[in-house]
Amino acid sequence: MFNNIAIAAKLLANDKKKVLILDMDGHFGNGTYELTKESNDIFYWSLHEFGKNIYPQCGDIDYVGVGPGKGYSINIPLPQGVGDDLYMEVFNRFLPFAKNFKPDIVGVSAGFDAHKDDFVLNLKLTDNSFYEIGKILSENFGNVFAVLEGGYNLDVLQGSISNFIKGINQQPIESKMERTTTNPRIITALEPKLVTLEDTIHQIKKSE
Ligand SMILES: [Zn+2]
Repeated sequence: MFNNIAIAAKLLANDKKKVLILDMDGHFGNGTYELTKESNDIFYWSLHEFGKNIYPQCGDIDYVGVGPGKGYSINIPLPQGVGDDLYMEVFNRFLPFAKNFKPDIVGVSAGFDAHKDDFVLNLKLTDNSFYEIGKILSENFGNVFAVLEGGYNLDVLQGSISNFIKGINQQPIESKMERTTTNPRIITALEPKLVTLEDTIHQIKKSE
């Protein structure tokens, strides 16, 4: 088994390119993190479901990189039940950290198992979020490539992929669905973690 995105990022980094990996698969990319955590040429950014029974049972906010790579990883652990509203709010909130890194190229771990109808995870995204992520990436970054990862409900996977690509190409969304919302209790419970993560990254940057 090969970790395509990490291999691509390492090759690009060897070529003196700065690479942002956005991992939108609903699982934490523990392999990618392990392979990139000590690098400051590769910035790893993942949003994923996090909980006791969720593979790989790690990827909390303290996974911020190691040694020279400290501050070059941002991992956002989401509780089950997160919908389009909170997911995109969190995405946009942490986007400036990714932009400040000024990557030459963005590689996307394009997994779609955060979809509300996926069987494996308990996040509640619709294609609206995948479309928006694609659009935001193409509006903010010059070079974007993607590697297909998870997505286990084949009835919805095709729509997720094509809407993500529509977003990247800044074309109209194919199948707009009603945006899913998150229980306010989940939003309140997550907030202190997000603040701690922001503070941690700011502190690391300040001490650099
Ligand atoms: Zn996954």
